[in-house]
Amino acid sequence: MHKIFISACFMGENVRYDGGHQSLLEHNLFAETIAKWKQEKRLLSGCPECLGGLPVPRDPAEIQQKNQKIITVNNTDVTESFHQGALKALDLCLKHNIKYALLKESSPSCGSHTIYDGTFSNTKISGQGVTAQLLTQHNIQVFSEKNIAELITKIDD
Ligand code: SF4
Repeated sequence: MHKIFISACFMGENVRYDGGHQSLLEHNLFAETIAKWKQEKRLLSGCPECLGGLPVPRDPAEIQQKNQKIITVNNTDVTESFHQGALKALDLCLKHNIKYALLKESSPSCGSHTIYDGTFSNTKISGQGVTAQLLTQHNIQVFSEKNIAELITKIDD
């Protein structure tokens, strides 16, 4: 049975920088699938930024395009915490032989196709968050809420 590493905020956990969540268990289209996967015990949830030791709530952070450092809106360098969190997420996936991840799009940790551009101007660009990038480098396929339909076809076994 394929297991899936899933962003904790997708499971309704209040781990986002603003203290909220992005629950897919309340999503019009995907709630049923996520609830089924949860019941089947396929899902292992985690928040890379919390795994990296960052608090909730926390200042929003973005990846600076000039040097790939992750800087908060108040100019604190949180690069190390983000990388530690990514490593812990990878460890969890390897320990549980997980080949698929479902991560929140556009996050500097979890984004798999887009991220914010580092200027805190609400501008998105193509790119990956640090956890999505590390998992991909270790042959874990990363999906987001934008292409969850592709993951559903893979899990349909
Ligand atoms: Fe959700 Fe990932 Fe951000 Fe944690 S780091 S709140 S799991 S998007």
